[in-house]
Parts: sequence; structure tokens; C-alpha cells
Amino acid sequence: MEKEGHILIQVEHLVKRYGAHTAVDDLSFTVEKGQIYGFLGPNGAGKSTTMNIMTGYIAASSGTVVINGNDILKEPVNAKKCIGYLPEIPPLYPDMTVWEYLLFAAELKKVPGKQRIEHVEEIVQKLQLSDVEERLIKNISKGYKQRVGLAQALIGYPEILILDEPMVGLDPKQIIEMRDLIKGLAKEHTIILSSHILSEVSAVCDHIIIISGGKLAASGSPEELQEMMQTKAELELVVLGTREQADEILQQINEIESYEINNAEEADCVKIRLDVSGDKDIRKEISVALSGAGLPIMSMNRMEKSLEDIFLKLTDESETEENAGSIETEESVQTDVSDDIEENEMNEQEESDDDGNL
Ligand code: ATP
Repeated sequence: MEKEGHILIQVEHLVKRYGAHTAVDDLSFTVEKGQIYGFLGPNGAGKSTTMNIMTGYIAASSGTVVINGNDILKEPVNAKKCIGYLPEIPPLYPDMTVWEYLLFAAELKKVPGKQRIEHVEEIVQKLQLSDVEERLIKNISKGYKQRVGLAQALIGYPEILILDEPMVGLDPKQIIEMRDLIKGLAKEHTIILSSHILSEVSAVCDHIIIISGGKLAASGSPEELQEMMQTKAELELVVLGTREQADEILQQINEIESYEINNAEEADCVKIRLDVSGDKDIRKEISVALSGAGLPIMSMNRMEKSLEDIFLKLTDESETEENAGSIETEESVQTDVSDDIEENEMNEQEESDDDGNL
């Protein structure tokens, strides 16, 4: 049996151009067996395009994708066998029942006739779809529709599941259910999911690949990303004294890379923000120097960078005009959630929309 650490997907120098626009720009990364990968980036970063290339839906302009040793262009049948794909808009047939649709998907995925019913039954159980299996897809809620989309990706039990924005449009309860389902599936499948919402990705993923403007901005575990950005320690101090006095002392401390002195709220105090080069802890040196010069330190705090700061910084650096303002942090997600609840309430009143995309 293969061990964890085995490379399942190798993406190398992937480029996708739409006319003059480069949607994916020299993207390379690897996916190892047994982990949940989060593909994170603002709207228009190139997540769907990359996923569509990885699953063989569209061809790249250049670069290669190798799935479990099979080049997606040269050996598409073998490569696709390893993948279950939930596209951004799930390919559902609104006029089929959930059961009919999944049986049809099993036929398309060439699950042998004799095993089909048993296989679909097992997936219906696994994804808790029994309650709606006889209902027409057009009459089930958004949360169930997304679960049916996930069920069709799971048919044939592919080793890899690629899920494009699986939580989009779900209400908070459905998001939690979907998150738990994904975590459960991760015991048997390697999962890559995309999202433009940081909190979603950090809640489920072991490894985060951040892309922005079609380029790789960073890749690592949430902890590694945090560490990577923590190369400069930032300190914030409130000191009793004048700007000139503080300035004179700080200039003499070599490890300080840069600093800024402003008025503090407290009377006769200044507020100092400083960057320390490297990861050396120089709080003691600063403390001795300032108090030795008769400038008592009223407070000193080490500023930790949150994952949110990192995401904003990384995507900001390669942000394009088109992407501006489309990054969602937890605060802005709250606004969306209320829209989703409204949408879900509508769904529950037996909607009849046109979800069919095939
Ligand atoms: P979103 O979350 O909004 O789907 P994304 O990160 O998945 O964003 P993509 O859908 O991959 O981004 O799009 C990347 C860029 O390529 C965008 O600028 C988009 O407008 C452009 N693009 C995508 N598909 C096409 C197409 N078929 N023709 C032209 N441009 C396209």
C-alpha cells in the first residue's frame, strides 16, 4: 500500500491564456496523498481554471498535470479514473430524482451493472441523502443539491476529490454539515477544495495553496504560512518620555530594522512601533536601553500576524485591478451568510430553478 507522502498530483508550469488574458500564470505545485488541500484566492485568481485543467475539462496553453503517474493529456482515461470532480456549478439534471441521477452518474462512470444499485445505495447513506432520494433535484434545497453534486463526485470511489467552492451559497448550518462530510471523506480520499474564504479553508485544510492573479503566492500548512510571514518580529511600546529622547536611544540599537514614533493616548508618553530583523528576541535590550536612559516602559506587546493578515498581504502583492476588493475575510462572510439564509428559505419553498448545466 502507498504511504502518506506519496505524490498524487504534480502540476508543473501550468499556463492558461484566454486571448490576451493570462488566467493561470506558470503555476506549479504538488499534492500528496492523504491530506486536505485548500486552494485559496480572491475571485478571478484562476482557481476554477486550474481545477478544470486538472480534471481534464479544458486544456492548458502550456505546462503539465500528472495524476497518479498519468499525464491528463496523454492518458486522460487513466488520469480521470483517479478523480471525482464537483465543479463550481454542479452538473445536475433538475428533472431527475436524486436516485435516478446518481444511478445515471454510476452508469456514466462505468460502475459495473451488477454493483451499481449497491454502490449508489452506499453513497446515498454516506452522504445522508436517503430523505430526498425520491425527490426531483429541482425541488431540493441548495444544501442537498450541493450534497448530490458531492455524491456524483464520489461515485466509483476515486482516490482524489476535487471540489470547486463546495460551500458557496450554503447557510451556516449547511456549511458545518458540508465541512463535516468533507472531513469524514478525507479518511479515504485526498481532497482539494477551492474557496475565496480564508476561514473556510483554515477550518478544514491541512495544507493551503494561495493563488493570486494566476500565480502561486504561497503554499504550506496554516502554521507554516504563519511562521513564514513571521520573519520580522513587530513590537509595540508605550514609553514615558519625548519623541526626541526615544529616537536617540532607538537609533543605537542595531537589531531594530525600522521604527515609528507617535503620540500615545497616555499623557507625556509616546507610542513606538518597531520591526526587528530576524527572529531574535530583543525585548530585554530595548527595555534596558530605554529605562537606563530614564524612559520607563509603560507597556510592550509583540504583534502576532494572523493568517488573515498573511492572506491579505500575499494576495495584495499580486492583486490585479480586476480582483480588487474581492477577498473575503470572516467579517465580510457574515454579510453573505444572511443573503444565503434568505436564499435557502426560498429554496425550502419548493423552488423550480434551472440548475441543469449539462
Ligand atoms: P471565481 O471564484 O470567481 O470563480 P477563480 O479563481 O475560480 O474565481 P477563474 O474562474 O479561474 O477564477 O478565472 C480566472 C480568470 O480567467 C478571470 O479573470 C476570468 O475572468 C478569466 N476567465 C475564466 N474563464 C474564461 C473564459 N472561458 N474566457 C475568458 N476568460 C476567462
